[in-house]
Amino acid sequence: MLRQDEFTTLSKMSFDVSEEQAIVLGQVDEICKEIRPIEDRCYLERRINDKVKPMFAKAHLLGLPVSRKYGDGQGADMVTYSLAIERIGREGTGMRTFFSVHMALGEMTIQHWGTEEQKGRFLTPATKGESIFAFGLTEPSAGSDPASLRTTFEEKGGRFVLTGQKMWISLGSTAKHVLIFAYPKGRREGMCAFVVDSSSPGFRAEMIKHKLGLPTSDTSTIYLDGVEASKEDMLGPPGKGMSVALSGLMNGRLSVAAGCVGVIQDCLDESVKYARVRVQHGKPIAGHQLVQRHVGLMSMNLEAAKLLLLKAAFTKQKYEEDPTNRALLEETDAAVTKAKYFAANASFDAANRAVQVFGANGYTFESRPARHLADTRVTMIYEGANEILEQKMALGSLGKEFAAYS
Ligand SMILES: Cc1cc2nc3c(=O)[nH]c(=O)nc-3n(C[C@H](O)[C@H](O)[C@H](O)COP(=O)(O)OP(=O)(O)OC[C@H]3O[C@@H](n4cnc5c(N)ncnc54)[C@H](O)[C@@H]3O)c2cc1C
Repeated sequence: MLRQDEFTTLSKMSFDVSEEQAIVLGQVDEICKEIRPIEDRCYLERRINDKVKPMFAKAHLLGLPVSRKYGDGQGADMVTYSLAIERIGREGTGMRTFFSVHMALGEMTIQHWGTEEQKGRFLTPATKGESIFAFGLTEPSAGSDPASLRTTFEEKGGRFVLTGQKMWISLGSTAKHVLIFAYPKGRREGMCAFVVDSSSPGFRAEMIKHKLGLPTSDTSTIYLDGVEASKEDMLGPPGKGMSVALSGLMNGRLSVAAGCVGVIQDCLDESVKYARVRVQHGKPIAGHQLVQRHVGLMSMNLEAAKLLLLKAAFTKQKYEEDPTNRALLEETDAAVTKAKYFAANASFDAANRAVQVFGANGYTFESRPARHLADTRVTMIYEGANEILEQKMALGSLGKEFAAYS
């Protein structure tokens, strides 16, 4: 039996955008429209879009989820943040990845785990675009199993010295500050997280070439050859590196889910526009029932993905306001996992359908569906590959005692 206040909450559920949200989303929309031709050109020339940072920094949007106490922080709640990322996602997964990494994996993780001194030192410039974050967890032999990573640190003369290699790191060549996860030398437990300055001696990054998609986004290998960090650069308590990494990934997954909703929206919009004007067999293809099937399924998946996203964002907001509540953390983790999984797969399906609606005209990177098809594929791999998330979701029903691995 529901309590009276629960009935009231349920009946108050609203999908309307508030006045404040509308202002932020309006600003994001304006820049997205301005940046689209630049992103298009960069995509075809397969080069990084270096206008993303300055254009969003100028509009004070690089600190959207950060408290107003720091620099250009806007203090946006998780729903507003997600809606903004959804809008950016329509422009493509390459551009959206920049925001997911800088804001979700970087800013939000430091905001959660950082000391007051670290928040002031790292978040203030980050919100203004004066420094960009990257998140260095994956290594050549540690992907889905980050506990198997091999990067190490040792204490020397009151400082930490880090050695190892990180791979597939988004913004790895662009970032000023990189979150690096490492074990104490000679041990396989007690992982720690550090915020490493990429201008430190021994730090080298190299962009990965010939990717399937995301040509406008920097993905790099990072080499750490005795890179020094100070005691004040350790993020979170000693030995809690894995918890820092997992909470970062939860932030990242919400952001990926939001971006994928944007991709589905763009695929649907493009398909509707094209199907209305492309004439075959004497009428617009929009009038052919099998083409309508593609549009209908995209539109249903869009709504389902958006509902899962909103539930995840609402739940995460509640957790942000009550961060020691363990039950709320688990609820958020489950909701974010489902939203990310569904939206990632639905975005790939939408891109595939949109290419089909476009026919041969969808088989060129000059069309948006082709770019989405190549780019959104990664969302079924990064921030938790499909198979990992499927098992995570299953354990929510079966119970953790059935975990296939630890
Ligand atoms: C473009 C791009 C950007 C990225 N950005 C970042 C970044 O910024 N920071 C970062 O740290 N990482 C980043 N990554 C890495 C990404 O998070 C990893 O690729 C991901 O965690 C999967 O690891 P893997 O690629 O090593 O695959 P593997 O872990 O080797 O997995 C290969 C396959 O085996 C499956 N598999 C693995 N273990 C199991 C299991 N126990 N049960 C069932 N199936 C399993 C996987 O699901 C997958 O299908 C990025 C990757 C890409 C491609």
